Amino acid sequence: MSSANPAVAPENLFRPEVLELHAYHVPPASGMIKLDAMENPHLLPQSLRDEIARMVANAEINRYPDAGAHRLKAEIRKAVKLPAGMEVLLGNGSDEIIQLLAMAVAKPGAVLLSVEPSFVMYKMIATFVGMGYVGVPLGKDFALDLNVMLDTIKRERPALVFLAYPNNPTGNLFDTSSVERIIEAAPGLVVVDEAYYAFASDSFIPHLARYANLLVMRTFSKLGMAGLRLGFLAGSVAWLSQLEKLRLPYNVGVLTQLVAAKLLEHHDVLLTQAENIKRERTELSGALAVIRGVHAYPSEANFILFRVAKATQVFEGLKQRGILIKNLNGGHPALADCLRVTVGTQHENGQFLIALQDTINQLA
Ligand code: PMP
Repeated sequence: MSSANPAVAPENLFRPEVLELHAYHVPPASGMIKLDAMENPHLLPQSLRDEIARMVANAEINRYPDAGAHRLKAEIRKAVKLPAGMEVLLGNGSDEIIQLLAMAVAKPGAVLLSVEPSFVMYKMIATFVGMGYVGVPLGKDFALDLNVMLDTIKRERPALVFLAYPNNPTGNLFDTSSVERIIEAAPGLVVVDEAYYAFASDSFIPHLARYANLLVMRTFSKLGMAGLRLGFLAGSVAWLSQLEKLRLPYNVGVLTQLVAAKLLEHHDVLLTQAENIKRERTELSGALAVIRGVHAYPSEANFILFRVAKATQVFEGLKQRGILIKNLNGGHPALADCLRVTVGTQHENGQFLIALQDTINQLA
């Protein structure tokens, strides 16, 4: 048996920026009404589930997946109406695509720029690939502060700009002309992250051909496929063919390719569910607006950010009542007293509202 060398330990082998990171935290949710992670709460129609069960039973999981995911990509192109001349690159969730982009540009001194508050993985990934990270504060009501953005872009010369459109966790779409000005001013790539496109009123996919430095990223996680892990990046072949070199050959498995392609054949079913969620969002926003002490922000996504006094106690009170949402209080200062609830089924939203009112009454 070899004796372990005591000098070989993470502390003296791993990069300091890795040692300082905290792993992405996923709270346990067993037995709870789960409204914390922007999942689609609806099951698929039984006939489609049966069809998927038969396909999975016959899937060749002894073989590696199609490395080019040809059938799935064809379904994606069709479903998202990709403009002529544009291509897609697939990721194991869009998180993997953020990482891939960061790896491609991470020369010494390279900077990733985003806004704050926004999706936390932009900063985490920048950090763990050794890039600089700059977060530009959002303005009033979480709108883009265009002047500060343009000044910071000029100063920092970011290789990558990420804009979540709609933004997570604030739920708003940024002003389109401001995003366009940012794309025009950026010396590197601008990635418009449309994770919540199915619930929003606008998209940059139709504008891809207008800007040589624009890429659009989407995920199918919020549209009913969170468990499959599938995201894509849309853009010109000039960028995507380079990024393909960094993509691990079999990053999208046999079952994901098979099931996602089948679901996209039935894109209308998923979009109908998204419409349903949008209707529920309107209901939920309306109900939150009349709860005393709650301020809900407008949302173009499948979640609602709201502010409430004693937010952490409200969060804990909801948890005790079997409802799990996201506590943002104590994170970014602009999110003090903020909680984020994912739009669930009508029943789940009702249960959430009862528990919220009950918790607030108890804390009063
Ligand atoms: N972008 C944004 C803005 C998100 O909110 C999320 C998920 N919370 C993602 C990307 C990543 O999604 P996934 O890895 O599931 O595709």
